[in-house]
Amino acid sequence: MPEAYRSDITVIGAGIIGICCALRLAEKGLQVALVDRNNPAEGASHGNAGVISSWACVPQSLPGQWKKIPGWIIDPAGPIALRWSYAPRMFNWLLRFLDSAQLNRVNDIADALLLVNRDSFLLYQQMLEDTGSEDLVTESHYIHVFRNSAAADPRLLQWALRRERGVPMDFIDGDELREIEPALSNEYKAAVVIQNQGRALNPGRLGQALAEKAQSLGVSFVRAEIKDLQLIKPDHWLINHKAGVIPARKVILAAGAWSAQLLRPLGCEIPLEAERGYHVVFSEPGAQLNNSILDNEGHFAASSMDMGLRCAGIAEFAGLVALPDYRRAQMLARLAKRMLPNLNTDSVSEWMGSRPATPDSLPCIGRVPGQDGLFGAFGHGHGGLTGAPTTGQWVADLVNNEMSDSELFSYRLDRF
Ligand SMILES: Cc1cc2nc3c(=O)[nH]c(=O)nc-3n(C[C@H](O)[C@H](O)[C@H](O)COP(=O)(O)OP(=O)(O)OC[C@H]3O[C@@H](n4cnc5c(N)ncnc54)[C@H](O)[C@@H]3O)c2cc1C
Repeated sequence: MPEAYRSDITVIGAGIIGICCALRLAEKGLQVALVDRNNPAEGASHGNAGVISSWACVPQSLPGQWKKIPGWIIDPAGPIALRWSYAPRMFNWLLRFLDSAQLNRVNDIADALLLVNRDSFLLYQQMLEDTGSEDLVTESHYIHVFRNSAAADPRLLQWALRRERGVPMDFIDGDELREIEPALSNEYKAAVVIQNQGRALNPGRLGQALAEKAQSLGVSFVRAEIKDLQLIKPDHWLINHKAGVIPARKVILAAGAWSAQLLRPLGCEIPLEAERGYHVVFSEPGAQLNNSILDNEGHFAASSMDMGLRCAGIAEFAGLVALPDYRRAQMLARLAKRMLPNLNTDSVSEWMGSRPATPDSLPCIGRVPGQDGLFGAFGHGHGGLTGAPTTGQWVADLVNNEMSDSELFSYRLDRF
């Protein structure tokens, strides 16, 4: 057995969630292997919008939103896309998504989202200490911008949910917005500035820097495509891959959008969809943003990063294997030019990746029911970059018996 394969704990998936789990476990002195078919942070964790949204607490499913969804889907330039051949498989997920919009559920979900996101920026700063990569995250506002001022009405539910939870927000007009962000189009008439957040200047490199730190603490990285998992006796899991088997005492499943398909053979059904998103990066943008910007109508986020200016968004439902449809990225490029009139679009690259999306917007964190020694850490949807540091900390505490299952009740895997 190669030395690298002997571990107390094996983490499957080296996205930002698996990396943070492995790092926190290693900090506790545990022997950890981190397994992925690709290099660390190449999945959704590479291409996201970089918003470290410590105040994120508004779920995707809100009361009354169902009325807008058909229009969004039918509009080829809308923020949601559905491959019709895939639609029947979405049915149950969609019903649960709509069910999550009940107001009492929305309030509980908002509390649980805030808890997993709240400390993210501070924790990133702490985890990056002494790596030489401290400048990969920076303090930032998260500015939601509007062409129609009515959508920035503080009485709307999305703002009320934040206000009730102490989110520091300023409601400003278009002129005040352009004082903060001169490059933005004067089409924007209003904005909501959410303060005290962070942003990643290169999300992929952030994941890699933390993976390197984990390796320096003894985590071994194994490159393998996992086929299935078997518990053969207490504290003895076999993780099967194409070229062999990895034994482990405990297993953390952090395989992002692919997590549910590894659980299914164990009799555990989780409603997890691949919510595919796209980005475009303009490598010589000629325009600069000082903060993370969310275009409310276009439903995409823009940020200046170290490789250029990135715009990311779109929610496309087409399963795990369909090829990317880069017309969606081209649509993002057009929206970006409208957001930033002086944007130089000559040099642009496109990307697609899958958010691991649960219907209630909450991640699955905790024990896999009936599977001794198997833990889930997936399903962070739109907020996995943000939720990763706390998820890693909680998983390490749970595995090391420093946290109880009841503290993770909102995120339990058997809630569906
Ligand atoms: C367009 C877009 C914009 C976003 N913007 C933001 C943002 O601004 N802020 C924010 O907080 N979040 C954002 N997100 C969400 C965030 O990127 C994700 O929630 C997060 O990256 C999920 O991390 P993960 O580790 O669970 O998944 P991933 O990064 O996808 O990692 C999963 C890993 O598991 C591996 N894997 C899967 N199956 C197997 C197998 N069988 N064997 C071996 N390896 C396997 C994969 O190769 C992959 O490396 C965005 C997402 C998208 C798509």
